[in-house]
Amino acid sequence: MQSNIIFYGGAGSVTGSNFLLDTGGKKILVDCGLFQGKHSFEDSNWDAFQFNPADISVLINTHAHIDHIGRIPKLVHDGFRGKIISTEATKAIAEPLLFDAMDLSARTAEHIGKAPLYSEQDIAQAMSQWEAVPYHQKVDLGDGVSVELYDAGHILGSAIAVFRREDAGQVRTVAFTGDLGGGNSPLLPPVEIPAGANYVVMESVYGDRTREDDSHRRDQLEKIITETAARGGTILIPAFSTERTQDILFEIRSLVLEKKIPTMPVYIDSPLAEKVTAAYLAHPQYFSEEIQARIKSGEHIFSFPDLHFVHDVHESERVRQQSGAKILIAGSGMSNGGRVVAHEREILSDEQSTLLIVGYQAAGSLGRKLVDGNKKVEIKSEEVSVRCHIEEMYGYSAHMDGEQLLEFVNQVAAAATDAAPLKQVFVVMGEPAASGFLVQRIRDYLAVRATAPEQNESATIDF
Ligand SMILES: [Zn+2]
Repeated sequence: MQSNIIFYGGAGSVTGSNFLLDTGGKKILVDCGLFQGKHSFEDSNWDAFQFNPADISVLINTHAHIDHIGRIPKLVHDGFRGKIISTEATKAIAEPLLFDAMDLSARTAEHIGKAPLYSEQDIAQAMSQWEAVPYHQKVDLGDGVSVELYDAGHILGSAIAVFRREDAGQVRTVAFTGDLGGGNSPLLPPVEIPAGANYVVMESVYGDRTREDDSHRRDQLEKIITETAARGGTILIPAFSTERTQDILFEIRSLVLEKKIPTMPVYIDSPLAEKVTAAYLAHPQYFSEEIQARIKSGEHIFSFPDLHFVHDVHESERVRQQSGAKILIAGSGMSNGGRVVAHEREILSDEQSTLLIVGYQAAGSLGRKLVDGNKKVEIKSEEVSVRCHIEEMYGYSAHMDGEQLLEFVNQVAAAATDAAPLKQVFVVMGEPAASGFLVQRIRDYLAVRATAPEQNESATIDF
């Protein structure tokens, strides 16, 4: 049997994840994410889908990051009426993220003279089509095709979508990885390998990087916080509302409880992060076994004295003006919007303070400019001098690095048989240099066919 995969988004770039698996009888969409870059809401999100949404049979969603879910209500608005399938945690985390994206969309729309991308009704409609399934429950999609979700270890509830098709006693498998966790979240279980898959469509965000040794990351965090506190400055951490905020919060809590850092207020200045944190706590079965055991024994994994969730912008302003050492975690993670930008306008020029970057910074984002060492940046048309300390820690990255991605393919291939080999790896969701580097390494080290498809490219597979 032959099927086609069409790479509509997340090809040649990190964001906008959107792949179509066309089996002839069924059109299965994997992810429907937002394009993000210089703007958290790129204009290309308004482009019409390259397919008719009404023709799509089902949408499988790998995880709740906005670059994997952000265009789902638009898909629904434009006529998609099939089921949306994901884990329960993904569904729960997705809802507040979609409302947040809707508000962002409305603001961007005003700027570019267009209607908002979708409405509250579109989100409600999407949620009504959304069906949660646990990991490893085989879901029949018709046409001899089924899907099973494996734990991707990337954010709570994240999944690898493993499709199987049975035909004349033969089973063919294609796995879409979504994003893959590198096993360094203090909260999540490790990734599950879709051993024996015949085709893999895989992420490559850090395809060309090797992560620094992260065994001392908590010490490093302790050092940065302690040194900044001694100067009386603010430690400002731009963080994604989902997973990074919870990981960092959990680590800071550990440092506070172990009395490793001086007493100071810790603020989470992101109503969205607060909602996502609540969704995390409502789905304890998705945490690692160790964390589950601690929750069962009565531990409140995200609570400690002097932790404050900031609710409105006035409170945010008050916190910013407050003197003395403090830790401030605010969105967005790439500083391309959200409350963190107002804090940065103040803090970047303060020699006592520290901007601590803990996550991936897309090309063109303010965060990337800061990481790249720019001494002057523009914030809301105003030039700001950068005088604060800039620290980077990638030990909390939610992604596999280049070595781990290669090892992932190696393990998939190791379980293949002569009758059902790993035939091809499609390397996606990376900037071209990262994807290209991983492609070359898969070919050179594993002798497996690998390509980095371009956006809108189509590939025929034996599935
Ligand atoms: Zn992700």
